[in-house]
Parts: sequence; structure tokens; C-alpha cells
Amino acid sequence: MAVEQQNDDRVRHNPYYGIIFGIILVLLLNGLIMPKLVQQKIIDTDYGSFIQMVEEGKVKKVQIEENRVFFSAVTSGNEEQVYQTGCVNDPDLVNRLLNAGSPNETGSIEFTKTIPRESSPLINFLLLWVLPGVIFYLLWRQMSKSIQGRMAGGNNVLSFGKSGAKIYADSDISTTFADVAGQDEAKEALSEVVDFLHNPDKYTKVGATLPKGALLVGPPGTGKTLIARAVAGEAKVPFFSISGSEFVQMFVGMGAAKVRDLFKQANEKAPCIIFIDEIDAIGKRRDGMSSNDEREQTLNQLLTEMDGFDSKKGVVILAATNRPESLDKALLRAGRFDRRIQMELPDLQGRKAILEVHLKKVRHEEIDIDLVARATAGSSGADLANIVNEGALRAVRMGRDVVTTEDLEESVETVIAGAQKKGMVISETEKKIIAYHEIGHAMVAAKQTNSAPVHKITIIPRTSGALGYTMQVDEGEQYLMSREDLFNRIATLTGGRAAEEIICGTITTGASNDIERATQMARSMVTRYGMSDKYGMMALETVKNAYLGGDASLTCSDKTAADIDKEVHRIINEAHDKARKIITDNLDKMHEATNFLLEKETITGEEFMKILNDASTKSAGSIDNATKGS
Ligand code: ADP
Ligand code: MG
Ligand code: ZN
Repeated sequence: MAVEQQNDDRVRHNPYYGIIFGIILVLLLNGLIMPKLVQQKIIDTDYGSFIQMVEEGKVKKVQIEENRVFFSAVTSGNEEQVYQTGCVNDPDLVNRLLNAGSPNETGSIEFTKTIPRESSPLINFLLLWVLPGVIFYLLWRQMSKSIQGRMAGGNNVLSFGKSGAKIYADSDISTTFADVAGQDEAKEALSEVVDFLHNPDKYTKVGATLPKGALLVGPPGTGKTLIARAVAGEAKVPFFSISGSEFVQMFVGMGAAKVRDLFKQANEKAPCIIFIDEIDAIGKRRDGMSSNDEREQTLNQLLTEMDGFDSKKGVVILAATNRPESLDKALLRAGRFDRRIQMELPDLQGRKAILEVHLKKVRHEEIDIDLVARATAGSSGADLANIVNEGALRAVRMGRDVVTTEDLEESVETVIAGAQKKGMVISETEKKIIAYHEIGHAMVAAKQTNSAPVHKITIIPRTSGALGYTMQVDEGEQYLMSREDLFNRIATLTGGRAAEEIICGTITTGASNDIERATQMARSMVTRYGMSDKYGMMALETVKNAYLGGDASLTCSDKTAADIDKEVHRIINEAHDKARKIITDNLDKMHEATNFLLEKETITGEEFMKILNDASTKSAGSIDNATKGS
């Protein structure tokens, strides 16, 4: 657990207390001094009024300065008031003052004497010089105290004097390899690290040095952060965890200082593990074009430190990223992060194992884990953890205290397609179109493979905007896709639109996602899988960021690009024609299945296949029924 024992200190030395104290002091002093100053307020007036007051004999004292004249006069209320006015080139002024009368005892104006403008030079001195000094001194003292408090942190706290950031060495981590399901290869690779940390002698005796660093690579949510913690938990050594972005600071040099500090502290605590999460934030390839001094300095420091420390002491550096291709080559060379540990999206077995791990944390009855695992192809460990949690939340909402398979099925849909939007009102006509669309997909899929195409279809609107949802459950894991498989999938995707066209006589926006996916697939067939007759095995596209969605960029001439479009168009059209044919050939079954779906709002794969394989279809009646109003 992270220890944060210097917390109380921090409160006492909070610099804000100094500031508040200073403000109170100023207010207090002003409260005492201001009234006196107000009495001495000087009024601006014009030269004419000054002369007039002189002639009326109201002026007592005059002080002539270089460009101003101060004078005091008796007001109508018989009070003395100090005025100021600008200097005018008036050679007669002295005569005027000599001749004029005054309320003074002497009867004449004192015009050489200084008029006291300020009540007391002492207070003035205090206000101008001593008070600010005192305030600054207090503020400075508070601040330096709080910095000291931070620097003298508790045992397990690493502190960066200059940057003020700190990192905790977590020394009792409860995560173990048992918490990481699947990912057996990664665990195997890392268990060597654990063994080394347990008994380094075994390795040093033979003269073997362990790799200094291992890089965990994989898509988001596959458990990279989790497994790094598990290594520390297994090895029972302190775990310094820091995110790459924490090194990148506003001030140049801070990041490098942090790296230095980190390694220094880690060396003292050896054996231990340093984990740098999302290392691509600092480890980006240095290219000539975009220079980011701070990042490069930090990276250089990291490279230097990795060379500098003695791995025999037992400091192991783990780093994680989902953009390995963007990392600097220097970081990956032998002697640095030379061991690469791949964390892939879990396969069927992996998903089952992950579900089991997370189901241990909730109360549940007998769960069909196989079903849930098959329904979640392509999901990451984080998705699966989320699905189990959503299922548990649903169970609570339903007023139950155990999670059921149904909860999990529902939460798979929730996580993938969004929550059900029960309140949304959909007109009968629209509902019909949606139902035909979904059944269209299912029909084309079923007729091509002659097996149950889906787990179930629902036509309950979702918060994600989907109006219907088809839950796919893959039979097993498929690692290779043939050209025919891909073509059939494209045909299935066009099946929804084909059903709309043929049965409802209209086309709707509901097919937009299908179109996008079909096009994407056809495009990949041509540009990446070498499945077009025209270009064969020529690579026309490269994929970047394979772990983050994978943006593809064309690597061919403009003319070829135009050709690709034609080829893609052809493939999709062919698939669409195939789908149309399947639906036209099976109109009766289409109507029957759609009616079933409209009535029940849900149809399972078995129910669908039963309708499909049922020879005694009562055709005519259901056609009338179904097409009415659409
Ligand atoms: P990453 O760092 O790869 O993006 P995380 O390690 O942060 O992913 O994983 C997020 C969460 O997903 C974990 O806390 C855990 O609950 C769950 N998870 C991911 N992979 C696994 C796995 N292989 N086994 C068990 N849980 C996992
Ligand atoms: Mg992570
Ligand atoms: Zn569709």
C-alpha cells in the first residue's frame, strides 16, 4: 500500500496560511491608519479658484513646488482643507500672496513653509517599507517550510525536491499472477524476472545477467498494467510505478531530473521494480522534424540511466505501451528494453479464464461461461471485467443477490451496443423495417453456412443509437479467413439492406454501419490480403498503430487508388446481388421469422433455425400479414 505519512505536516505548512495571515495583517493596519490619511485628503482644484481663494483671504499656507502648488484654506464650514493645483507661469503670485489677507493669527499667508501632507513619517515608513517586507518574509517562510516538509517525506516516498512531484514505492502488492488470466506466454516470460528477484545469486553464479528491461506491448485493456503489478506482487519487492506522461513537464530539465531521482531511489531500494506505464509519451522516436527538447532530454536521461545501473543489483525495469512502432530505436536495443512481451487480445480460452477470475469477485449461480466467452469475441480483458461488473449491477437492479447467465448476456449487449432504451417509441412501420433488416442479415448468414448464424436478435433500441442488435456467438476461434469467408461476410452485411429493398420497397439509414464495415472489409481484401485478381499479392496499404484501431494509408499511385475503388465497388455489388438472391428465394421464411421477432422482440438462433428448417410453412397468410403497412 502506498504510504502517505507526511500529510499532517503538509497541512500545517500550507503556504496559503501565510497568504491569509498577510492579508489579515494588511487589513488590520489599514483599519487603524486609513482614517488619519482620509483627513489629510488633498483636493484637486484649478488655478483660478486658488487665486480667488487667495484674494478672498481664505488661504493660510502655500507651498510652491516645481510643478504643483499645495495650499491650505479655510472652507465655508470653517475647516482647514488642503488643495493642490498646477503651476502657472504667474510672476505676480508672490505679490498677490504678500498682499492678500489670511485667517492666520499673523494675518498674512505663510508661503514658504512646508505644508504637512502626511500625518506621520513614521507610519509612512512602516507602510511603505516594513509591512511589505514582513509579508514577503512570512510568505517565504511558509513556502520553504512546506517544501522542506515534502522533501523530508516518509520512508517509502520518493520525492523530487525541484518538481514537487512524488512517486510511491508500493511495497506490499497483493496482485499476483493468479489475477492475470490467459496471457500464459507473458507470465512465463516474466516468471524468470520474478525468480531472478527472489534469488539473484543463482543467476550471478553462472555469470548470467538478466535483461534490464522488458517491454509489455499490446492493445489497451489486455492487462499490461495488471501483469506488471503482478510481477511485483509475486517477487514481493517494492514497485515504483510512474506514467510516461508524468515525466513531461512544463519546464525543460524537470523530466530528466525526475528520471535521475527515480533511478537513484530505486538503486537504494534494490531489489525492486520500476514500471513506466505508457512509455511512448517519452520514448517517441526522435526525428529531425518535430523537436521537443523536454521529451528528448528526458529520453536521453532514461537511456543513460539504463546503461548506468548495475542490473546485478536487481533493479528490473518494466514498461508498457500500445504503440511499440513509435518507440525510439535506441530504447529497444540490446541492453535496454530488449525483451518484448506481447499481450494479445484473449482468445476463447483466455476469455473464459478472465471471466472466471472476475466472476470470483461476485456472487453468482451456475454461469454458462462458455456462452458468454463465445459472445465476446474481440473483447479485451478490461471489457470482460466491465461486463462482469455490469452484470452484477444488473442483478442488483433486478433485486437479486446473485448474478445469473442472463445478467451477463444482457451486459454483453450493454457493453457492446449500449443499454436498452425502453422508453423510445418506434412506429409500427419502422419496427417492421428494422425487423426485416435484422432478419435479412440472419437469413443471408444462415443460408451461406447452413448453420445457426447468430445467438439472438433483438429489436429493442439501444442508447448507442442501434435500433436492433444481433448478438454473434462464434462457434470456435477462427484464426484464418479465406476469400470465401470474407466474401460471405460482406454478403451478410449487405443482407439487411437487401431485405429492406426487396420486402419493404424502401431503403433506410439503418444500413450505414453495415455499409461502412462491408466497404472496409472489401477494401482490405484488395489492398492488404492480396485477394483481388487484378493486383494479386501486391501490398497497396500499410497499417499504422495496429494496436489502436489501425489506420491504413495507401502506398500506391493515384491511378491504382482509383482502380482499387472500382474493385471494391465490384466486390460489394457482387455480394449484394448474392444477398438479394438469397432473400428473394426465401421470402416465406423471411416473413415468418420477422413476424416471430416482431411479436417477441427477441429471436434466438435456435428459434430462427427451427423456422428455417420447418418444411410446413404456412406461407400465404403470413405474407399478407407482414407486408401490410410497410
Ligand atoms: P492495459 O494496461 O493493458 O491497458 P490494464 O492492465 O489496465 O490494461 O487492465 C485493465 C483491467 O482489465 C484490469 O484491472 C483487469 O481488471 C482487467 N484485465 C485485463 N486483462 C486481464 C487479464 N488477462 N486477466 C484478468 N483481468 C484482466
Ligand atoms: Mg495500462
Ligand atoms: Zn444492418
